[in-house]
Amino acid sequence: NRDLSAREASAEHDVERSLRPRELEEFVGQPRVREQLQLVLRGALNRGDQPDHVLFSGPPGLGKTSLAMIIAAELGAAIRVTSGPALERPGDLAAMLSNLTEGDVLFIDEIHRIARPAEEMLYLAMEDFRVDVVVGKGPGATSIPLEIAPFTLVGATTRSGALTGPLRDRFGFTAHMEFYSPSELELVLRRSSEILGVDLREDGAREIARRSRGTPRIANRLLRRVRDFAEVRADGAVTVEVARAALEVYDVDEYGLDRLDRAVLAALVKSFHGGPVGISTLAVAVGEESTTVEEVCEPYLVRAGMIARTPRGRVATAAAWQHVGVTPPPHAPG
Ligand code: ATP
Repeated sequence: NRDLSAREASAEHDVERSLRPRELEEFVGQPRVREQLQLVLRGALNRGDQPDHVLFSGPPGLGKTSLAMIIAAELGAAIRVTSGPALERPGDLAAMLSNLTEGDVLFIDEIHRIARPAEEMLYLAMEDFRVDVVVGKGPGATSIPLEIAPFTLVGATTRSGALTGPLRDRFGFTAHMEFYSPSELELVLRRSSEILGVDLREDGAREIARRSRGTPRIANRLLRRVRDFAEVRADGAVTVEVARAALEVYDVDEYGLDRLDRAVLAALVKSFHGGPVGISTLAVAVGEESTTVEEVCEPYLVRAGMIARTPRGRVATAAAWQHVGVTPPPHAPG
């Protein structure tokens, strides 16, 4: 029943929204980013200036969208949300920009996927709060300069390397989001369990945090799944035993790796004998888009010490061989 699943998906979405931190104070982890951002915002507020444009990069689910919303809240400003793929034609962007009111925050998710002509329009908008709208075609075409209200652009990207130099240079503050430590994730879980009214025990929180791939969004998702299990199969309390049994049902392994992570490791070890192998070859082997493997799987597998990046390609480490359960040949790298 599609209706039902759409309703369920939107209910999950509402829950996720309710778990979003609203203020910088509530935002767990990322201490450096938080401190730097606080200075940027306070400085501008004290001077009565419009804050510089801000760019967040890092893997999905680490809180980039949350921070964009927090920036708007801290500034007492409205936020408009769009994404790179939605800005295919410059006209789409021009419409967005000309609707801004003074002081607004414009959030562009996946900003590395913005189309070239729109990107060029963005340069001028970011620098001079102006856009040139081209009217007509061919030799008779004229460009009409249009003033737009001063605004702060917040861009988010999973691939800062894919941004063009001129675009990157126009951000006054850029921050790279790191994976969260297990103890930070425990704090995220504690906060979420209070909001959701889940009886989360200390050992249960530790277990879920350890298996959340360093990612708050995943921690929150696993908390909801473990809560279901605790309520249906146990007395509602999320203990370490309940968490373990629930995560087993949902196929989340000891290290928090999901199916795709494990498929990537298995392919690397079994099909390519530990590598080195290029990311696109690896992606084909697991039947996934290479951007997904590169932006979603690989960062965590590297951080977890399972994959090493070398100039010749990706290599399985000893931990990866062990995880897949294959004995490496004596000359295996890592
Ligand atoms: P994407 O790039 O995929 O949009 P994102 O990096 O923007 O992901 P968010 O949508 O901001 O991630 O965060 C996902 C969820 O994780 C939020 O709903 C929020 O509940 C939780 N979350 C993220 N960061 C934090 C944090 N630092 N403290 C508490 N909760 C957090």
